[in-house]
Amino acid sequence: MQQIDGYTRLCGLIGNPVEHTMSPMIHNTLAQKEGRNLVYVPFHVEHGQVRKAAEGAYALNVLGLNVTVPYKGEIMNCLKATDAMAERIGAVNTLVRTDGGYKGYNTDMMGLYRALCSEDIRLEGEEIILLGAGGAARAVAFLCASKKAARVYLLNRTLEKAGQVAEEVNRTYGYECVAPIRMEEYARIPSDKKYLAIQATNVGLYPNVEDAVITDTDFYAKIHTGFDLIYRPSETKFMTLVRENGGQAFHGLKMLLYQGVIAYELWNDTRVSEEDALAVYEKMKAEMGIKD
Ligand code: NAP
Repeated sequence: MQQIDGYTRLCGLIGNPVEHTMSPMIHNTLAQKEGRNLVYVPFHVEHGQVRKAAEGAYALNVLGLNVTVPYKGEIMNCLKATDAMAERIGAVNTLVRTDGGYKGYNTDMMGLYRALCSEDIRLEGEEIILLGAGGAARAVAFLCASKKAARVYLLNRTLEKAGQVAEEVNRTYGYECVAPIRMEEYARIPSDKKYLAIQATNVGLYPNVEDAVITDTDFYAKIHTGFDLIYRPSETKFMTLVRENGGQAFHGLKMLLYQGVIAYELWNDTRVSEEDALAVYEKMKAEMGIKD
């Protein structure tokens, strides 16, 4: 247990709810491993109190904060500065202390990229199917274009939202990267090749573990790799369908790990070794009862 004294630095998480978060495990384990005098605590913040929470944390010399649902957009009005990519995505999940206020970053997206890299999954030049057009999918679409993906077929139940994301991403990166498609029209995706598919809807999330946003095996026959952002459960119906049709499949726990690792690196101006990151990952898997 960390000895708390007058030099202890505080980091934390603001959101509502925050009770089931794994972030304290990530940051407190890293701090212990590095012998860093830092503790990380979740703060349940009531609606309408986000600005006060950020200002209060700054006044209390809090080193950094993570921000989770539902405040990743609202917090952007309470910052001294915002990282360019977070600004484009329109969501901030990490506040880093700077002179005069916090600067906002989006480490969800950087975390996903590091998770993909650690599994040898490439975005550069790839043709990708992206399921969903909500907050997380929007970040994934920006990430794919920033890494020069050849094409992203963006499938969403509400076509209008997919169209909006596509328009913004294509305008930002100056090429026709993202093609919006209504979810049930997935057969329009050319069948002459196989794709990386990133599942960024909340369909299949615990407790609705038997649900997948598409169940047709013809769709899964097009997928060589499926990456589900969901990590609860660790084996989603989407992942099972990918595997049953010959693809490899991954859950979103490594994305969660790396978004935390990157926040920790920003706060402490350090680089976490891959060994330490993977030690934290093992602890997270044990906590969730994941064996492989
Ligand atoms: P969100 O903004 O609420 O977006 C939800 C998305 O799911 C929308 O595209 C929505 O489509 C779609 N959807 C919801 N119910 C549906 C249904 N019954 N049929 C078809 N589509 C449906 O949520 P989010 O913040 O993007 O999060 C999405 C997922 O990513 C969540 O499961 C979350 O746990 C996961 N996530 C994981 C990490 C990580 O670290 N691993 C980080 C962030 C998010 P419409 O637009 O048509 O409503």
